[in-house]
Amino acid sequence: MGARVVCLPGDCIGPEVMAVAHRVLRELAPDLELEDHLFGGAAIRATGGSLPDETLEACRAADAVLKAPIGDPEFDAADVRPEQGMLQLRAELDVYANLRPASRGSVDLLIVRELVGGLYFGARGVRDDGTVFDTCEYHPREVERIARRGFELARSRRGKLTSVDKANVLETSRMWRRVVHEVSADYSDVEVEDMLVDNAAMQLASAPEQFDVIVTENMFGDILSDLAAAMTGGLGLAPSASLSDSGPGIFEPVHGSAPDIAGRGIANPAAMLRSTALMLDYGLARPDEARALEAAVDVALREAPTPDLGGNATTAELADAVIAALAA
Ligand code: NAD
Repeated sequence: MGARVVCLPGDCIGPEVMAVAHRVLRELAPDLELEDHLFGGAAIRATGGSLPDETLEACRAADAVLKAPIGDPEFDAADVRPEQGMLQLRAELDVYANLRPASRGSVDLLIVRELVGGLYFGARGVRDDGTVFDTCEYHPREVERIARRGFELARSRRGKLTSVDKANVLETSRMWRRVVHEVSADYSDVEVEDMLVDNAAMQLASAPEQFDVIVTENMFGDILSDLAAAMTGGLGLAPSASLSDSGPGIFEPVHGSAPDIAGRGIANPAAMLRSTALMLDYGLARPDEARALEAAVDVALREAPTPDLGGNATTAELADAVIAALAA
């Protein structure tokens, strides 16, 4: 029996791009068991919560979680919002390493973002005088595990790791830098450099080809990875993989649920399919199928670009081109 993949079709264009992933997986890896579960806005409508217990249990028991974007303007001002379920799912599965590859021409880089700590998960609140605060917190062991992941990935690529921090200002960054250098003793074959986040943004925009693997904390990684995606073709093309040490990973496009184009059949499914390729590679150890899918998506993007890329192909036509390229 094939591996079990829990699919979370999500909101707005989510089900449209997930349908393409299903179609392609049925061609490429028919032995996989694909199960759809409620998540995000669809789950709020059906159950009142964005991450129902049944969905969480299915994710925990899966070999991989394939997730389409969630989010719907209907819930923008609601107490229960789709995005809450996303943060909860990441934390529950402890997917601390978010991999965001970006490539185009001579640029081929991988951002490894810490995903379950830092500013997005630290203490927050409102003081008596009305001051609002969010706190950036890291324990050295959280830094050690993401640094180790960064070094391992650099070792499997071109052997260069850039650690991005703000050590001239932040205590967490000074500890980050110290721990990265302690871990580097185990990876003498990997060249390591430190870069301040403001400089990293400038270097990414002006000379991105210098980077191989970038490892950084949650918020810096959030911002820099969108910049890297913009530099290499836009959010509609950018995939991500979020990995833990032992449980299932979450594989999802970087873009959101695009409510402005939902239901029109023109969503670009490339980021969803590239996320599917990352799942085959990092989540299910099926690298040959991953490479085949990446190559087919590249061909299809040239032959049948969707409107966001300046073309006029529909979602279904781009999917047809992917299937044809896989069969060629
Ligand atoms: P968005 O990424 O959904 O859309 C930004 C722009 O890019 C829009 O013009 C949209 O049409 C276009 N776009 C995005 N993906 C596309 C695709 N595959 N094909 C063609 N065009 C595409 O960002 P937003 O509008 O800021 O957010 C919309 C909703 O998505 C919000 O509710 C937000 O919270 C949510 N969101 C979810 C995730 C996630 O599930 N991981 C990530 C980001 C945003």
